[in-house]
Parts: sequence; structure tokens; C-alpha cells
Amino acid sequence: MWIDTHCHLDAAEFDGDRDEVLARARDGGVSMMVIPGVEAAGFARVAALARRYGYAYALGIHPLYTPRAADADLERLQACLEAGRDDPRLVAVGEIGLDYAVEGVDRGRQEWFYAQQLRLARQFRLPVILHVRRSADGLLKYLNRHEVIGGIAHAFNGSEDQALRMVARGLKLGYGGAMTYDGSLRIRQLASSLPDDAWVLETDAPDIPPQWRRKEGARLRNEPGDLPAMAGVMAQLRQLPLAEVARLNRRNACAALPKLAALLDPPG
Ligand SMILES: [Zn+2]
Repeated sequence: MWIDTHCHLDAAEFDGDRDEVLARARDGGVSMMVIPGVEAAGFARVAALARRYGYAYALGIHPLYTPRAADADLERLQACLEAGRDDPRLVAVGEIGLDYAVEGVDRGRQEWFYAQQLRLARQFRLPVILHVRRSADGLLKYLNRHEVIGGIAHAFNGSEDQALRMVARGLKLGYGGAMTYDGSLRIRQLASSLPDDAWVLETDAPDIPPQWRRKEGARLRNEPGDLPAMAGVMAQLRQLPLAEVARLNRRNACAALPKLAALLDPPG
């Protein structure tokens, strides 16, 4: 079985054919995914989709949504985490983090939302799902102050040194579309050399389409059904059988997001 640890199933890109997308994912063996939230207005929808389709979800305010977020959205987040305390499908606080690549998004505001959400993750003893873009050092600085139980640094794109410091903080690194590009030398090098327990697989659908979709040209959407082929790239990079990649992905995903294990069928 395959787990997609990061899929924005609520995105408008899937509104036209969500059931077909999920049928393709299931046919490919992707039987679990984690749907991260990006803003308070979407929390109910993310939770409803997870319930409806039998998946997991996370709640958080994405750094690129902080310009339009209200300070009171943190209270909404706290209330939703409180209400979801016993919800087995609510597995993390995310997607939160810092994005230093996009111009014009106030860094101080991003950092404030990030720090406040780390505090909530601590309060509710939930792991975090982190957005990293040219921000690994900034993310780590706050993690040193607000220790969390673990989680995933998704679409990780930092240096080896930053990677190892993330891992030392108890985070797994998320790999997906970017790993499939021949030109992603640093990402591919890291994916091939990290310890077995340091990574998880994700599509980040509909974003970061894999190489094979880029070649199609017309259709640039990524979808959860692409995960097994991404796992194939991981298998090649690490020179492992595909079944071993599936086993490690499952084990690492459950280690990063402990509540996930209860949602999965027993390993067979
Ligand atoms: Zn994302």
C-alpha cells in the first residue's frame, strides 16, 4: 500500500474530477493520504474530505496565506484542534512554516504565525507539517525554541547540513515531484544518501508535477495517483526494491505522524 503524506485534495484544481482522481489513486495502490490545511476558511472542508474518503488531515495556516489571515484565525485553529482532540483523522498541525522565496510576503508576520502554531502543536502534542522554501535555518531556529514531537519537512530542498539538523529535530523529509527532475541534483543526491528512517513520500498534488507530466506539456497538474511512480524514482535512487520503499514509507510516515497508524490496515 502507498501513503501520500501531502496532498491538497481540497484544491480547486480537483473540483472537476475529484472522484476520478481518487479512483486512479486507489487503482495505483494509494490507499491513504494526508490532506493539509492552508487557511482557517478551509479547515471544515479539509476535515470533511478526509472523513468522506477515509483519509487523514492536518490543520494550519500556510505561510503564503498569512498576508490574508486574521490574527483571530489562530483562535479558530486552537478551537478546531480542541474540538478534534479525539478525531483519529486529525494527525498534525500543518501546513505551517516559512517561505523566503516569494517576494512581498512579510517575514515578520510569517514568523509570528509559525511560532504561534508551533506552540499549538506543543499544546496538543501533535506533530507538524512544515513548508520549507529557502527557510530551513529560520524554521530550525524556531523549532529550537518551541520543541515539537516531530513531523515532516515537506518538499525539502535545503542542504545536507540542514537536512541532518531537521532529522536530528525528529522530522522526516518529504520527497516527491522535485526528486523526479534530472536537474534536481542536490535533492536527488540527498534522497539517495539519507538514512532509511529520514524520509517520506508525498505528491504535494496539485503542485510540483513530476517530470513525466511536464513532458506532457498541456497538463501540468500533479495527482496522488503519481505517488507510486515517484516511489519508483526513490527506489532507483536508493537502489532498493519497490516493496522496501513502500515498507519504509509506511513505517516512516507512522513514526512522523503517530495517529496515522490507527487508520491503516495491518501490514500484510
Ligand atoms: Zn503543501
